[in-house]
Amino acid sequence: MKLFTAGFSHETNSFSPLPTSKRNFEELMIRPRTGKGMDRLKDAVGYADFIRLGEESQMQVAKSLYCEAQPSAPMNRKDYEEIRDEILADLKAAMPVDMVLLMLHGAHVAQGYDDCEGDIAERVRAIVGPKVPIGIELDLHANVTQKMLKNATALMACKEYPHIDFAARAKDLFELCSRAARGEIKPVMAKFDVPMLGNFPTTREPLRSFVDETTRMEGKDGILSVSLIHGFAWADFPEMGASVVVVADGNVDKAMSLAETLGRRFFNMRDKIKSPLQSLDQALDQAMAEPKGPVVIADRSDNAGGGAPGDSTYVLAEMIRRGLKNVALAMIWDPMAVQSCFDAGVGAVIDLRIGGKTGKFSGQPVDVTAKITALAEKPRQFVFGAEAPLGRSAAIHVDGIDIVLNSIRQQTFSPECFTELGIDVTKKQILAVKSAQHFHAAFAPFASKIIYLDAPGALSTNYLQYPFKRMRRPMAPLDEVTL
Ligand SMILES: [Zn+2]
Repeated sequence: MKLFTAGFSHETNSFSPLPTSKRNFEELMIRPRTGKGMDRLKDAVGYADFIRLGEESQMQVAKSLYCEAQPSAPMNRKDYEEIRDEILADLKAAMPVDMVLLMLHGAHVAQGYDDCEGDIAERVRAIVGPKVPIGIELDLHANVTQKMLKNATALMACKEYPHIDFAARAKDLFELCSRAARGEIKPVMAKFDVPMLGNFPTTREPLRSFVDETTRMEGKDGILSVSLIHGFAWADFPEMGASVVVVADGNVDKAMSLAETLGRRFFNMRDKIKSPLQSLDQALDQAMAEPKGPVVIADRSDNAGGGAPGDSTYVLAEMIRRGLKNVALAMIWDPMAVQSCFDAGVGAVIDLRIGGKTGKFSGQPVDVTAKITALAEKPRQFVFGAEAPLGRSAAIHVDGIDIVLNSIRQQTFSPECFTELGIDVTKKQILAVKSAQHFHAAFAPFASKIIYLDAPGALSTNYLQYPFKRMRRPMAPLDEVTL
């Protein structure tokens, strides 16, 4: 049996001030044909699992490229088509194949393409024909379209937020598609649209139990897979939003009926499952009043993992204004400030302008007199086990506040963002992190408390401040919706 696999992943924010080109995908680009990036194969979760599982099953594995970039604005058309066409050319060269497994995101937009995953699935289907199973693994922040449903055999999203289960879902999808390729099952899919926007951590009840309940349905009574898909809110096109996708064995009515039942329950719990958000004032008051640190404050509005710049200054400016001591913040994406720190050297005290440079959602730059406490050429953090380089980074100290500045834009996933720059996370009263939920996996084990912050920024839940033109309405919580 011959497996074809590839990955091309981007979560696109229609309102991000940061344009996206092929260059951004060099952050994690693996081209097995030339050997490029193979030393980082283990960091391409999902895709690396497809390859390993195929080889372990004695399949012939045709490996096309894998690439991903930080969330940002829609990708430029020419670059999108170039990468897509490279994957399609590899597929044509590999034909005939018995199954196709793709690691995509589900909310990838390029100029001229609202739905890159649907576009890729349609072109792959045209090459392999109607019978070959096409399995697509998605992020649960996907906006699932009719084109994806029509052309894929099985869409399967991660179940967990934080997304700690990409490898487990890759295995499920590999097994499902292998069985389909052997003719043991006939997967059919149905989707129920859930008209809501929101941020829904699976670490909290009642969503935790709901996810577990839907997982237990899999493998029984003809149900092959259930995906609760949260949608990606900052995507301005009609098919955006949450959904439930069910894959059943041969019975599409059964798939539809379950998708609808679960979709209605998902919708009805929307107010109970969203992150409990606090204002900046509330968050800092509460964090400083806690008897013991570290309190982790998640600045979800400047989460680079959702397309925000990662250089907003609202939290930092308020910490300085309040004169807070023994607090730390990571990371402000500011390559220019990092360069100044490297030029000045460890121990130097310099005047520095940090953050607030990228766009209107970043706030004002902050001018500080900073002591440079650490410099690192190649620090890294861990993303559910995979390694993510932070780029050249600096730690500075400003009157009681430790600040990490870095040069490869990304959200704060793990404490190494602090510790690699010499900051002891266990001794701080507050750790402010720029992340919506993925930080939770690595910070929750030692945090004394976690506070989700709704500061101003590019990913505020005040959705109406963004110039949506094509969103489907009505949509909760913006409108009254009866379902
Ligand atoms: Zn996601």
